[in-house]
Amino acid sequence: MMRNHAGRYVTFSKNVFIPVTNVCRNNCLYCVFKKDINDKGAFLLTFDDVEKILKKGRDEGCIEAMFTFGEYPEKVDGFGSMLKKEGYDSFIDYIRDLCLLALDLDMLPHTNPGSISLDELSVLKDVNASMGLMLEEAASLEVHKNSPGKTPEHRIKTIESAGRLKIPFTTGILIGIGETEDDRIRSLKIIRDLHTRYDHIQEVIIQNFLPKKGTVMESCKPSSIDEIKETVKLARGILPDDIAIQIPPNLIPFDLLPELVRCGVDDLGGISTVTLDYINPESCWPTGKELRYILKDFILKERLPIYPRFVKDGWYSKKVGRVIEFYADEDGFKKE
Ligand code: SF4
Repeated sequence: MMRNHAGRYVTFSKNVFIPVTNVCRNNCLYCVFKKDINDKGAFLLTFDDVEKILKKGRDEGCIEAMFTFGEYPEKVDGFGSMLKKEGYDSFIDYIRDLCLLALDLDMLPHTNPGSISLDELSVLKDVNASMGLMLEEAASLEVHKNSPGKTPEHRIKTIESAGRLKIPFTTGILIGIGETEDDRIRSLKIIRDLHTRYDHIQEVIIQNFLPKKGTVMESCKPSSIDEIKETVKLARGILPDDIAIQIPPNLIPFDLLPELVRCGVDDLGGISTVTLDYINPESCWPTGKELRYILKDFILKERLPIYPRFVKDGWYSKKVGRVIEFYADEDGFKKE
């Protein structure tokens, strides 16, 4: 049994995916998740909906509550009345209370809030074990022409604000959406430089584009296997060793995993036995058993949504600390 190229374990976290709302102010040309407010499929999960998902996840041994939602839904006309029905005027306050609900149920929140301000991040900081925002690409791309929150300046600012607030943070790049290799290099270097200043990036996701039916990009080519491998190698060469490289194992050909680990992948992200990947609903997560089989040459280790280094350094609030300390072993991984 081997550790990976950097002498580390290959890690993953068991999570539930909670798509709080699919209302979003952006219109990314590859997105199948967002719905217009007047579409039949537009929703805002209620407290009861979220509680059911959390309890089911907890009963199945998941410890991460991953909250994902459209960006600034409150900027979309009509969303305010959906929120009012739940008794809230502020969406960030609603998310904060859902995180508190997760903590009460002994689950650790990881919120992906979109490009939000430093003040809004501060509201969520002490109720999250970690947070995340994909940089995607530090370039202005056609696919984001109708997405005000996807300008590189907004994304970079949010990642920087998270650093200033000392939030353990996940980011990543999305490849195959019209960017050049230089764009990828520049994006990875920006992440590296932000980490050099704030020391807060725990992992960088290399996510490959997959076309979705019903989107403007449905007939575009998916990222090639060579592109994925080369980008992992590129990332490993640019990023410091204390940032893990993550590949979502449900989005790549499964038998490619061992090779990607040899190229530099350290982490497989959140794996759910309970919920769908709502952003890529056609792509099922592999089971723990399947992962252990395909990666039998490597040591797989379950982690918390906050990486061991940040557990040891105490980058968490008292509220979150109670749950972290319950689950973490002395090295900061999930207790066996
Ligand atoms: S990808 Fe995210 S930000 Fe873009 S439209 Fe979909 S939900 Fe909104």
